[in-house]
Amino acid sequence: MIPFLPLGAINETYQPALSEAALQVIQRGWYLQGEATKTFEQSFSRFVGARYCVGVGNGLDALTLSLMALKLQNHWGDDAEVIVPDMTFVATAQAVVRAGMIPIFADVDDDALLTPCLAEQVLSSNTRAVIPVHLYGKAADMDAFAAWADERHVILLEDAAQAHGAFSGKKRVGSTAKVSAFSFYPGKNLGALGDGGAVTTDDEDIAHAVRTLANYGADRKYHHIVQGLNSRLDEMQAAMLSVKLPRLDQDNQHRQHIASIYAQHIDNPLVKVPYQGDTVHSVFHIYPLRCSERERLHEFLQSKGIQTSCHYPLTLSQQPIFETSDCRTPHAREWARTQISLPISPIMTEEEALITCEAINQFNL
Ligand SMILES: *Cc1c(COP(=O)(O)O)cnc(C)c1O
Repeated sequence: MIPFLPLGAINETYQPALSEAALQVIQRGWYLQGEATKTFEQSFSRFVGARYCVGVGNGLDALTLSLMALKLQNHWGDDAEVIVPDMTFVATAQAVVRAGMIPIFADVDDDALLTPCLAEQVLSSNTRAVIPVHLYGKAADMDAFAAWADERHVILLEDAAQAHGAFSGKKRVGSTAKVSAFSFYPGKNLGALGDGGAVTTDDEDIAHAVRTLANYGADRKYHHIVQGLNSRLDEMQAAMLSVKLPRLDQDNQHRQHIASIYAQHIDNPLVKVPYQGDTVHSVFHIYPLRCSERERLHEFLQSKGIQTSCHYPLTLSQQPIFETSDCRTPHAREWARTQISLPISPIMTEEEALITCEAINQFNL
């Protein structure tokens, strides 16, 4: 069997360091807001090239808290609109709603990414921010977005939950927007052993506001200046992440190597490899193949012992919680109809990748 993402086996390759770090946290007897979190925040901000990093409870909270901080800082009202791509994980838009604003869904391009041109199509006089998502591990063109956002007086955030370590131009994601949100959900390229997230920024006031909002809106103990949340990266997860961060680039390179095997050996007119075979501009959180007979390909590969998944079967505007019937996002909907995710991980072998290619090449109608 070729598993989609064997998390236990992946984390086994970091042993015994994970167990040793966990034991230290247990023995220190200090489980929140301690030295493990501080150490990880420092190394992660250095890694992405941002001045500040605030560890939070998960990726949804990282996005929500970023938006709450911006809303306060800029005195936005509840009619503020935030542009998000229609093809992304639901959290990108749920964060906008939780922060008391309105998500506006834009179409995506042939790489499933938002572009300034597509954002422009849904721009309104109420647009206050835009959130490009580095979907599947490929960074959106953040230089182009920075210029566009500047010109339109719109704040640029980034949802970097799928792209730890990726570059947009010369910068790592996490340092290419006013505020950046990360998730350390176990299956991400940098994954904790539970929930975790982070906000990175160069803006001291935003970093401070996020930390305050994430701690019940308290500026000091038992003194609450704003309605906040309880959302913290805990010491155990921070310690796990500090063990895993030093190997992130190497893990991403392995993913790119697997992607290059896919790009070279998949040869079937019924499927389309991503990025026209380019395998250096993504960290391949997901390997997004496209096939108009997606369900049948999934069943066929399943019968050969190869697990696949789909990211995502519905666009956000097709979700019951949003159900916006007047939304025109044909490319996003095409992705939702045809996308199928192949196995890819830091421990997948060349042999497993070749077996997968061979099976895909045997697929016919
Ligand atoms: C995983 C993910 C999130 C949410 O992260 P959680 O830690 O699961 O809350 C947000 N956006 C994108 C694009 C994601 O893939």
